[in-house]
Amino acid sequence: MLLGDYMLKEKQLIEYLDPTYLYIPITYNNYKSNTYINKLDKITNALDIIYFPISGNIIKTTYKLNSKNKNELYLVIKNDFKEKTIYNKKYNLPNIDKKQNILIINAYDLEPFITYNNNLIKNYAQNLLETIDYIMEKNKINQTLIMTKDKDKIYFNNYLGTYPNIKLTSLTYKNSIPLNSIYNTYLYLKYQKPIITKIINIITPKHNLNIKVKLGTLLKDILIKFNLYQDIDNNFLLIINSCINGNNIKNDNLVITSDINSIIFIKNNFQKTTTCIKCGKCYEICPVNLIPIYIVKYIDNSKKLKKLIPNKCIECGLCSFVCPSKIELLEHIKIAKERIKNEL
Ligand code: SF4
Ligand code: SF4
Repeated sequence: MLLGDYMLKEKQLIEYLDPTYLYIPITYNNYKSNTYINKLDKITNALDIIYFPISGNIIKTTYKLNSKNKNELYLVIKNDFKEKTIYNKKYNLPNIDKKQNILIINAYDLEPFITYNNNLIKNYAQNLLETIDYIMEKNKINQTLIMTKDKDKIYFNNYLGTYPNIKLTSLTYKNSIPLNSIYNTYLYLKYQKPIITKIINIITPKHNLNIKVKLGTLLKDILIKFNLYQDIDNNFLLIINSCINGNNIKNDNLVITSDINSIIFIKNNFQKTTTCIKCGKCYEICPVNLIPIYIVKYIDNSKKLKKLIPNKCIECGLCSFVCPSKIELLEHIKIAKERIKNEL
């Protein structure tokens, strides 16, 4: 397929499920080369039980990066593309806190550009609602609130009539369950098998792709498969999950694991701060409707500053992130908050 075709499809979910090599994290190196493994054979490492997403021979062990930017030991499996599966075990539902009588689900893509939840909702709204309804029934939960953006509500609204106890909200709550867990539960229920695939959102200056891959796929292989190296060079930062509090990864030798949702490439240009060009981006993006640039402007005018209520700021940092003039808005707002607090 040509890159042009992918660009047309990039709002849809695309797949890369046949990597030649796959990487499984291990704690101890007690595996022999040329040992044959079947798809869904399992191993236990220090933290988890891992199911092999492909069948084939163990080639060697190697060090690759994990999502915390640390080198980790991996088994390298060469795919024989036979997809031979030996698996009989039934799967249980993931644990839900039985004391809860309201389920809160986070389906919000907080940062600009990230379309991870948006893509899940667009492609699986009906399946997600069915799964939520099933979880509610099994756990005797009376009501569910799904935190979601207005633009994504339409996809749920197509099916919500059937589920009067599931409501959508634009408000945000703590202690919510990520939508990704509901999607994984849906996969459990549908296939009765361990989760061996993962949808990841890859964002470059030219593409915003949601790709279903096997867990253990190397990022490098995905970038080659979809010609994404054309979009980036050495002068890019590779960020995992969040520009605000995610990890900056050293290089593309990164293995896809279940905790990776988004991979963001941003230009590493530490531009100098310039003056405000009045583009309005900082107040358009503020989730609590502040006007960050006015707070900066009136930081020494306590009367005006109070009216701008900087203490409402949740310090998400989005205003600084989107500002094309690289003004450190959040740093100023933190100072403004202190000033208001000291005057109360
Ligand atoms: S850091 Fe504060 S002012 Fe800036 S976008 Fe977030 S909430 Fe709004
Ligand atoms: S985003 Fe930056 S340049 Fe645009 S209005 Fe806000 S402070 Fe000014």
